[in-house]
Amino acid sequence: MRILLVEDDELLGEGTRKGLNQDGYTVDWVKTGTLADQALKTENFDLVVLDLGLPGLSGIAVLEYLRDRGDDTPVLILTARDSIEDRVLGLDKGADDYLVKPFELNELLARLRALQRRSAGARAAPLLVHGDISLDPASHIVSYKGEPINLSRREFALLQVLLENAGRVLSREHLTQSLYGWGEEVDSNALEVHVHNLRKRFGQDFIRTVRGIGYTIEKSKDQK
Ligand code: CA
Repeated sequence: MRILLVEDDELLGEGTRKGLNQDGYTVDWVKTGTLADQALKTENFDLVVLDLGLPGLSGIAVLEYLRDRGDDTPVLILTARDSIEDRVLGLDKGADDYLVKPFELNELLARLRALQRRSAGARAAPLLVHGDISLDPASHIVSYKGEPINLSRREFALLQVLLENAGRVLSREHLTQSLYGWGEEVDSNALEVHVHNLRKRFGQDFIRTVRGIGYTIEKSKDQK
């Protein structure tokens, strides 16, 4: 899961970035509205955490431009305690949720998980189940045939993206972007290695290669 964090406050930004990283998210952090707008125009993110009070382009403008482009990436806005107007305006302009600063990291993480669930086809249950595999985004536990198994952080992230998009073909670029942030060194065959490892766990046919495009997994029987 790749998050764009937009926050101009160094201390809050750094703390939030660290917390999200530790929870397994890939985080790209920008400190101005202009950079956020550019990033959202050119890259894929699964979620956006957007401070509204930013230098230059405001958070509200960033949000407006995003929705005007027809982009429905889930956005959680961060607002100051005393600015009810901002909160209302943000929600009216297409934000999916908000948090008032200062906030607890645990609440941010829970709200982001809820947004992910909603955006992944209105999935009500917090568990992702696919055949013999079940993945719990909150506890980071993956079970296979009823037994918990250990996956690396990136294998876990890749599995989660694939499960949330079962039945859809995901491009190599999209998958690589959801596993690695800017400035992270990525081997050209890094994605293949993670795919290979997941196939070793769950069977060769679990992930299908779509030549020239990317990868996909079948829709599971219990998914609609
Ligand atoms: Ca700010």
